[in-house]
Amino acid sequence: MKIDGACHCGEITYEARVDPARTIVCHCGDCQTISGGPCRVNVPALTENLTVTGTPTSYVKTGGSGDAVTTAFCGTCGSALWSGKGDTPAFVFLRTGVIRQRAELIPTAQGFCESGQPWAMEMAKIPVVGR
Ligand SMILES: [Zn+2]
Ligand SMILES: [Zn+2]
Repeated sequence: MKIDGACHCGEITYEARVDPARTIVCHCGDCQTISGGPCRVNVPALTENLTVTGTPTSYVKTGGSGDAVTTAFCGTCGSALWSGKGDTPAFVFLRTGVIRQRAELIPTAQGFCESGQPWAMEMAKIPVVGR
């Protein structure tokens, strides 16, 4: 499906094509630290199908496999955008929270559950309060 994304301040926008069935949750420690939350939700997109307006800021980390992974975010508002291996990745993992159609991107799998926060595995059990 065709999707479009935008950071919170609107400086970075993009369009891409994704297969919603490949939406995944990652509970790894890096996702927790870099996202500032208990986990992260990603959907892959071929770089050749990704068109970007604006210039994201990059942070390069060494992934668990030893590969350099570049994570892209908005340098102004800090919204997380995507990550990819190396300088010219064939595909990137888009962060679904900045995608306008995110309600249609329902995860079909979750990984690195051993490093996940136990409560994040059972969020439906947490009492709901007003906001
Ligand atoms: Zn922004
Ligand atoms: Zn992760």
